Formats: sequence, C-alpha cells, structure tokens
Amino acid sequence: MQATVILKAGKERPLSRHHPWVYSNAVDRLEGKLYPGCTVHVLSHEGQFVAKGLYSPVSQIRVRVISWDEAETIDHAFFKRRITKAISHRNQWVKNTNAIRLIFGESDGLPGLVVDQYADTLVCQFLFVGMEHWKEAIVDALAKQTGCSRIVERSDAAVRSREGLEPHVGALLGEMPTEPVLINECGVLYTVDVIKGHKTGFYIDQRDSRDLVSQLSQDKDVLNVFCYTGGFSLAALKGGAKHVTSVDSSGEALAMAQRQMKVNGFDESRATWIDADAFEVLTQLRKEERQFDIVVLDPPKFAPSSHHLEKALGAYRQINRAGMQLLKPGGLLLTFSCSGAVDSALFERAVAMAGAEAMTHSTDKALDFRVMKRLSSGADHPLLTSFPEGDYLKGLLLQRV
Ligand code: SAH
Repeated sequence: MQATVILKAGKERPLSRHHPWVYSNAVDRLEGKLYPGCTVHVLSHEGQFVAKGLYSPVSQIRVRVISWDEAETIDHAFFKRRITKAISHRNQWVKNTNAIRLIFGESDGLPGLVVDQYADTLVCQFLFVGMEHWKEAIVDALAKQTGCSRIVERSDAAVRSREGLEPHVGALLGEMPTEPVLINECGVLYTVDVIKGHKTGFYIDQRDSRDLVSQLSQDKDVLNVFCYTGGFSLAALKGGAKHVTSVDSSGEALAMAQRQMKVNGFDESRATWIDADAFEVLTQLRKEERQFDIVVLDPPKFAPSSHHLEKALGAYRQINRAGMQLLKPGGLLLTFSCSGAVDSALFERAVAMAGAEAMTHSTDKALDFRVMKRLSSGADHPLLTSFPEGDYLKGLLLQRV
C-alpha cells in the first residue's frame, strides 16, 4: 500500500501555491508503511492528490515536497535530472568564479540539500532525513555532472538535530583535503577551510556584494566589521583601496585572512586586522573620531528564530547607527542581515531608525542617507516566489548625503 499523508481540511491551500512544506499540525492521518525519508503521497482531506514528498517523523516539517507531478517517479534518475537542471542554471548565470552554490535546497527542488563547489571540491550538507535517504544517488549524480574528484560532507549544521540526525563530517568521494582549498572569485584568491570553516567554509552568498565593494574601493579608506576570513577586505584591496581596517572576534578567521593577503601578494601595510568585539571597536572608533569612505557591516545571524526578533532588531539598530556615524560625507555603508526571521521591510525599518538615531546623537545635523541599491545573494541562490524562506540575505547600499 502506498505510504500516504492525508491533510486536515483546507491545509492543502499553501501547497497548492507550491509552498513545499507540510507542518505536523496540518496532518490528519497516515496510511501505509512510513519510515524516515520515505516517499509519500500527500492527499487533501477530500482525497485529492496534492504532491509527492519525503517524510520526516520527528521534524515540525513532517513532509517536504519533492514533486508536484503525480506521474513523476522518485528514483535515481529523478535526482540526476534535478541536479543537472540546477547546475545548468548556474552555468548560464554565474561567471568569474569557481566557488558556486550548485544546489540551494527547496529553491532547486531538493529540500534540505546544500551543495557548494570550491574549485574541484564539492561540499554537501544533508539537512533533512529525506535527502540523507538518497545520499548515494545524489553523490553519484554530482560526481558525474561536475567531474569533481572530491566530495566532502559537512552535515554539522545545528538544524540536523531537529530532524533527529547526528552531525556528520567526512569524505563521500576521494580523500578529505589536508589543506584549505584555493578558489578564485572575480580575480581575488581565497583559501577555504571546507572542514572547519563556517557553513561549508565560505560565504559564497556575498559574491555580488564583494564584487561591488571591489568596484567602489579605488583609493578609499575602508572599514569591514564582522570580516570573518576577510572576504570584503580582500575584495576592497583588489579594487585599489588605500587601506582596509577589518574587525572580527575570531582569531582563527583573522589568521586565515592574513594568509590570504600573502597569497594575493597584497602589501601588509594596507591592512589592519583587529581581533575584538565589534560593538566595542565601533564605540572606540567613534571616540577617536575616525571616519571612513566605506563601511561594511555583515554580522552573524542576530535572530536565529522569531523569538529573538526584538533583541536582534536592537542589535541591527546599534551597529548601523555606529556605522553611519563613522562615514565621511559622501561615504558608503553596505549593511546586511542574514537572519531569516528579519524580512527586508523589518531590516530597512531598523536601518532607517538607526539613521534617525545617528542624527539625534550627532552634532552634525546634516546626517542624511540615501538608499543607492538593495543587495542580495547571487543567481546561485535562486529565490522562488513560492518559497520566501529562501530570501534570508538582505542588504542595503547607503550613501551619506
Ligand atoms: N562578512 C563575512 C562573513 C561574516 S560572518 C564574509 O563575507 O566572509 C560573521 C562573523 O562575525 C564571524 O566571522 C564571527 O566570528 C563574527 N562575530 C560574531 N560576533 C562578533 C562580535 N561580537 N564581534 C566581532 N565579530 C563577531
């Protein structure tokens, strides 16, 4: 008997707009033999076919939809088709880099699967029991489609525990790398620690904004706060920045950043690396009345969930106010939030409030800011209109008027 999930009355509505999640409270009853990761048919309360999905017995998201087509068989060939399609989208849209997000979960029709390519190394995250179930098919298709000789698993993200999955890091194909992987993004060389680095090792999602900073940086004095391994800092130096001051509280990340200076042949005297708390450094720089042509604020996820919203918005206001106060007239602020719980409207409101506060706390009443551009991740993080959850990274380029 086909494993089936029957929804409560009316609960098929979000699914009929192709939102791919069935929450546990939408489920009326189960039929057939279900096991973690198995393929299920999702039916409306009236018994109409809605979708095919993969089942998770413990997650709040009980089913993640994998196909809207009743006739489509979920097998090895299915995963090969989906992966081929995702890669051909990147081939068409992503240029000037060998660090690319090849698979972006739900947005590529492969829920809970993330695959990043760093030169000839692929790094995968299996964040959902349904993808875990098809791991072999996925690895096989990835190896054939990309020709990469090494596939590393970095399934150590905290969300795995919500699926009842243990963290796992190891080689899926070839050997584990013994050195950071060298990539080239828009002419800048970065070394990526795919085993211990954040996420899969690098913030691929900031590629377009790094390139923008590079284009704006000629002869500029730049401040990069929450710099991690110095992505924006190196891009600014490549773009001809006079000097870049970078702040992060991770000594390891800063050590990697400094190694990358050498790899790129940048003169050390053009960069200052500060290993300290960003909030304190921002206060100190203000006390010293320092001013910059460009300030980048790319903090960690201040709101891991909607419960943290108030506190997170306060933190965004605080750092943005400080960043704005450190700008020369005509200076540029690139400010970001990667909190899924903070949508772009909320983020823009927090930034606007920061602008108002910067003005009231300043002796210079002519502290106005103009929105030059809205920023987001690149084409390798496709955004489906039916899946707004994919829109986690938002940013603004502001100019002090
Ligand atoms: N801009 C980076 C990514 C930033 S990730 C890039 O493009 O690669 C967020 C960074 O903030 C991490 O490196 C983390 O170490 C740092 N961080 C978190 N809290 C901090 C704090 N209070 N002060 C300074 N750095 C902090």
